[in-house]
Amino acid sequence: PELINQIAAGEVIERPSSVVKELVENSLDAGATRIEVDIEQGGARLIRVRDDGCGIAADELQLAVASHATSKIGSFDDLEHVASMGFRGEALASVSSVARFALTSRAQGQDTAFRIEVDGGKMQAARPAQHPQGSSVEVRDLFYNVPARRKFLRAERTEFAHIDDLLKSLALARRSVEFRLSHNGKPVRILKAARDEGAALQRVAEVLGEEFPQQSLRVDHAAAGLHLSGWVGLPTASRSQADSQYFYVNGRLVRDRIVAHAVRQAYADVLFHGRHAAFVLYLELDPAGVDVNVHPAKHEVRFREQRLVHDFLFRTLHEALAQTRA
Ligand code: ADP
Ligand code: MG
Repeated sequence: PELINQIAAGEVIERPSSVVKELVENSLDAGATRIEVDIEQGGARLIRVRDDGCGIAADELQLAVASHATSKIGSFDDLEHVASMGFRGEALASVSSVARFALTSRAQGQDTAFRIEVDGGKMQAARPAQHPQGSSVEVRDLFYNVPARRKFLRAERTEFAHIDDLLKSLALARRSVEFRLSHNGKPVRILKAARDEGAALQRVAEVLGEEFPQQSLRVDHAAAGLHLSGWVGLPTASRSQADSQYFYVNGRLVRDRIVAHAVRQAYADVLFHGRHAAFVLYLELDPAGVDVNVHPAKHEVRFREQRLVHDFLFRTLHEALAQTRA
């Protein structure tokens, strides 16, 4: 099983940010309101994710790290949902097979925390530990036992930038959760939970830059079972904002052809340019109207009614942007 886990790891764990993604998504699934991510040496030395979620019961700790150990599939219908968030009970097993791994957790309603360690695929028995309610996962020396992979890690700065980008996209998706990120012991981001519109825009500004609120328009429109909300930035000639384009479908970051086309058309039609405008947009629709399993890692989706979605996005954005010319 060790080799199988390592092979599985190779498919999903490309670099430190892939680990962070899986761990933070687990924390979000656990209902965390506060998630702390501590990184050392771009994640090559340490990735630690701490949350205040529901925790894991002592007798389920080992199981959580075993492969196919998801607690999240209650029925066949759930499969679709679970697949959208991760890869069904493989993340901890995979990560723990390619790093020195520790999981410490105190389950809700319990007064003792427990910790397990996995090193080189060998799992130790759970022993009592100190921890508030919630979980901490520590991943040290990623790929220490897979030299071919370790060799492909980029410069510390580059790997950390990937982690920061990922955290920004998650922080925009889940604005009511507090996120903290540190690198080599220094705080890099502190994003407090945003509970109202003003605080939400504040978080957007922290991620996209303080000038974004002045250069953007609020969008909020619903029709035909589709709801689009968020902020569209006005194109700025000065610098490329292509890195600051966030589009979420039912809470999930998406890079989609249909979406990109509709957005680009709306900008082009009203402002004649805008390929590089920043935006943060949230599309909500009936989950049955979108297939999110096309390729979870590539952020692809497939809308059942592509034309409808495209035209809705185009019209909504067109109308919003047209106000700037009024
Ligand atoms: P999946 O998320 O697909 O279920 P994982 O390997 O990521 O698979 O996690 C395995 C299981 O471990 C989860 O189903 C969950 O029960 C438990 N788990 C992992 N991380 C956490 C966490 N931060 N808080 C609570 N439970 C967790
Ligand atoms: Mg998971």
